[in-house]
Amino acid sequence: MPCPACQQTNIDNQGRLPAFPTHVFGGRQTGTVIDPGEFMHCRTCDLFFRHPALPEEVLTSLYEDLPSTIWDSSHQRPYWPQALRLLEKHAANRDVLDVGCFAGDLLCWLPSEWRKHGVEPGNAARGLAARRGIAVLGRTADDLAAGQHSFGAVLSFDVIEHITQPVRFLAQLRDALAPGGCLILLTGATDSLPYRLFGRHYWYGSIPEHVTFYSRAWFTWAAKQLDMKLSTHLHLPSETREWRQWTKQLAQISLHTLFRSLRERGISDATLGRLPLVGRAARWQTVPWWKQATDHIMVVLTKK
Ligand SMILES: [Zn+2]
Repeated sequence: MPCPACQQTNIDNQGRLPAFPTHVFGGRQTGTVIDPGEFMHCRTCDLFFRHPALPEEVLTSLYEDLPSTIWDSSHQRPYWPQALRLLEKHAANRDVLDVGCFAGDLLCWLPSEWRKHGVEPGNAARGLAARRGIAVLGRTADDLAAGQHSFGAVLSFDVIEHITQPVRFLAQLRDALAPGGCLILLTGATDSLPYRLFGRHYWYGSIPEHVTFYSRAWFTWAAKQLDMKLSTHLHLPSETREWRQWTKQLAQISLHTLFRSLRERGISDATLGRLPLVGRAARWQTVPWWKQATDHIMVVLTKK
């Protein structure tokens, strides 16, 4: 099977991804049974991907039906001020597009000097964004008419990990930019310390709608393919850190990883269930999340 980004077949299978409760998608019950699949690594471009993964049209149709309340994005995310600083530094003009804008929370938070546009597959969220004054251009990047836009910046936060053909997606966003404009992207980082520690056991891979996984090396490779420049990157957490929670969640995911590793070595659930601490992890249905870890990457890709 070729890499979905570079089409090369220099692929390393890193093993099973964590199971998720079947019939759950975007935190909601659905009729679709999803196989967690395996964690694949492309040695050519450094993309990690889920295989098998749901086809993109199935993913999009699942997002369409999500209620506008499914992701609580009404509170300010810790990385929004950093994004605004990058926007002010790198945007070619004050027209900004948010791809995957949900209900328009980030756009509404931006200062009023920005002309705000959005793209969003969720029907309820898209309607809400339009009512809040966002110029809504469609459902997905496919709805951006080629050559019709010249945005100073395109933002896309927590979206590219849902995309099965990332180079095509980024090319669509690049084509919507004015010359000198930039893409600012945020996603999970496979080159972050938490990912290096936990690998395929990491919580980020236990979310069924996450199908592709990225690093700085991948974005450097992709920038070259797209005739763009990786202007800057930073690793950061996607949630506000509170050290008690951070420590508790680190302990939980460590126990869970130990439990999975021992089970894969053939130790029975009955034996594992009797061990101190690990026995507790044996009763958890899914991977505990380490939401406050520094496990995301924000990149700025600039159009030449
Ligand atoms: Zn590749």
